[in-house]
Amino acid sequence: MKLDNSSTYEVFAIRYASLGGRNASENFIGGDPHEAGSDLDYYVWLARSGQRAFVIDTGFDAAVGARRGRRTINPPEAGLARLGVEARSVKDVIITHLHYDHVGNWALFPAATFHLQDDEMAYATGRHMAEQSHSQAYEVDEVVAMVHEVYKGRVRFHDGDAELAPGFSLHRVAGHTKGLQVVRVSTRAGWMVLASDASHLYANMNDKRPFPIVWDVPKMVAGYARLAELAGSAGLIVPGHDPQVMRRYPAVPGLEGVAVRLA
Ligand SMILES: [Zn+2]
Repeated sequence: MKLDNSSTYEVFAIRYASLGGRNASENFIGGDPHEAGSDLDYYVWLARSGQRAFVIDTGFDAAVGARRGRRTINPPEAGLARLGVEARSVKDVIITHLHYDHVGNWALFPAATFHLQDDEMAYATGRHMAEQSHSQAYEVDEVVAMVHEVYKGRVRFHDGDAELAPGFSLHRVAGHTKGLQVVRVSTRAGWMVLASDASHLYANMNDKRPFPIVWDVPKMVAGYARLAELAGSAGLIVPGHDPQVMRRYPAVPGLEGVAVRLA
């Protein structure tokens, strides 16, 4: 597909939290609990082209994160502001899925439409939430808050693939949850895929070793191939929680440790 300047985006990863002290079984199904595991970093993402800005995920609420043992390093809205984007005026927020670390600060975006997959809302409000293994990463109050936003007309639902603008599209890649969606965005380097939790770490997709918080393991593994189909090359897939992202891409000057330019 042809990429022209009018539809290529600058893309940033903004790191707002980190979690260390993990073992391999917390990052991989079948991982050795005695083997040290990669840290997880927590990100939101920004894609910007001219006047148009898409924010991808809103991070966890600091109090919810603290209750779950995760410390905020730099609040997501502060990172966005330092890139020149005020949360209160953002028009489009992509919610990749409704887990607490992806939807927590939704209230800081009062002007936004929230883009969500039908299957994600159905999953987060349906029968599986009676089981702790499925519900553990959701905050019921945040899911209920998003239901309120549906009734206000602020949630735009998608069913599978959806193009929101030339060079910017959403794609359901289920597995981690039933309705997780990833973002495909055109950049000067080619088609980049923001995988969110379709692959937490590079190693999950590269070694086909699924992360243990999972709705459907075969779908999660199939999702790794789908990411490769959507991306212009393997190097243009950005995992959702890998600290290596901060090392592989250049820091935004003045925002070392907080934001990197992905494209
Ligand atoms: Zn996550």
